[in-house]
Amino acid sequence: MNESISNHKIYLGAGPAALPSTVLQEASEAIIEFQNSGLSILEIPHRGSLFQNILDEAKILVRDLCNLTDEYDVLWLPGGGRMQFCMIPMNFLGDDETAGYIDSGHWAHEAMKYGSHFGKTLSVCSSKNVDYSALPAIPTSLPNHLAYLHLTTNNTIYGTQWHSLPPQKSTMIADMSSDLFGLPRSFSNFDLFYAVAQKNLGAAGVTLVVAKKEMLAKTKRILPPMLCYAAHAQKQSVLNTPPVYAIYISWLMLKWTKLQSLSVLHEENLKKAALLYNELERNNLFYPLVANKTDRSIMNVCFRTKDDNIATEFSDFCFHHNIVGIKGHRRVGGFRASLYNATPLQNVQTLVAAMQEFERKYS
Ligand code: PMP
Repeated sequence: MNESISNHKIYLGAGPAALPSTVLQEASEAIIEFQNSGLSILEIPHRGSLFQNILDEAKILVRDLCNLTDEYDVLWLPGGGRMQFCMIPMNFLGDDETAGYIDSGHWAHEAMKYGSHFGKTLSVCSSKNVDYSALPAIPTSLPNHLAYLHLTTNNTIYGTQWHSLPPQKSTMIADMSSDLFGLPRSFSNFDLFYAVAQKNLGAAGVTLVVAKKEMLAKTKRILPPMLCYAAHAQKQSVLNTPPVYAIYISWLMLKWTKLQSLSVLHEENLKKAALLYNELERNNLFYPLVANKTDRSIMNVCFRTKDDNIATEFSDFCFHHNIVGIKGHRRVGGFRASLYNATPLQNVQTLVAAMQEFERKYS
């Protein structure tokens, strides 16, 4: 999507991630002047009508894309994913209660660790023993006393993803940071879900939280307002001075997402992922890290070179082909190509062509 911006590299980073060129263009213009207001988007007041319109429209777009009614509130909160790891148990896990966590990766595990500061946590299933290279099997029967069940829909670091999700068994909370809007989901199966913006939703600095209003009202502790969902909901995301620019970029991304449609984006994402996984299966020099095909992420494709000695050469080779951001996370090593919504098929074709050229050179 960055083809119209000269010198723009093919960027396949896991987040902050690539943004569509139309969004970059509009955002750059808004820095000079936003909607003929005589003000930069960086200057507009956070309690004025210009920003209120952005918030109102963003809320409608989120509900529309998720097929949700106004039973759900839409909040834009600071502090990233980790702040949600804190706020969820602070608000919804009482001292003597137990929350279930599906331990499918580093971020899922971190969420559980944060939870243990506020109540009891139970790992209902885990794939830690296989270094999260596969998804754990969710038990058919779960304890019925759980305050909530937390799951991570896409494991960004390991490249695994739940393509279908367990039916609602208790209060369901999901971290959808790295695959929100990458595929259609039954969002109404969740009581609360959240996503950091810096993948499919814009720029770092803000996290989208969508939750049943009824749930937000039932907090388990008296909390300072900044840590309390109900307080943020009451002030409609302007409790303090919010990251106006990051929310503005998310609004542009929501409009862009709506224009493409979730089903078209999903189809494109399936095509991009299939192209790369097929090449990883075929090419003699590489292999995909996730062996089980049904567990493979269509957002983050993790792979390695069969011979560790050529990894640096491949990295340099990609750099010379203008392909950047493919270094694997430090916990896993190897490579990771993130194929979020804004990455066009053409960029994946370029990566695959580079892998084929590399194969011819090094086989
Ligand atoms: N959840 C997931 C699925 C992530 O991929 C990440 C980071 N990329 C986080 C949570 C943590 O987000 P943050 O860095 O904003 O705390």
